[in-house]
Amino acid sequence: MNQPWQSKAACKGLDASIFFPDPDVDDDALPAKAVCAECPVSESCLEYALGYREKDGIWGGCTERERRRIIRQRRRTA
Ligand code: SF4
Repeated sequence: MNQPWQSKAACKGLDASIFFPDPDVDDDALPAKAVCAECPVSESCLEYALGYREKDGIWGGCTERERRRIIRQRRRTA
């Protein structure tokens, strides 16, 4: 993946492992979400993940479960 928005990503150069939290551990996603909250390209990141149905990790501040919820909501309102 090499998207133009990635050059501005707040996670650039950070330990990628924090963006792949254990989905069964409460609050494991919080460190990644904190980075995403300050990221200037979080919207592009999230839309990329939604478009490519990324299954794992935190994208645009959303977990896999949260992304599935967004997809379902969009389908209902389409
Ligand atoms: S929203 Fe989060 S995962 Fe996406 S580019 Fe920004 S910091 Fe990285």
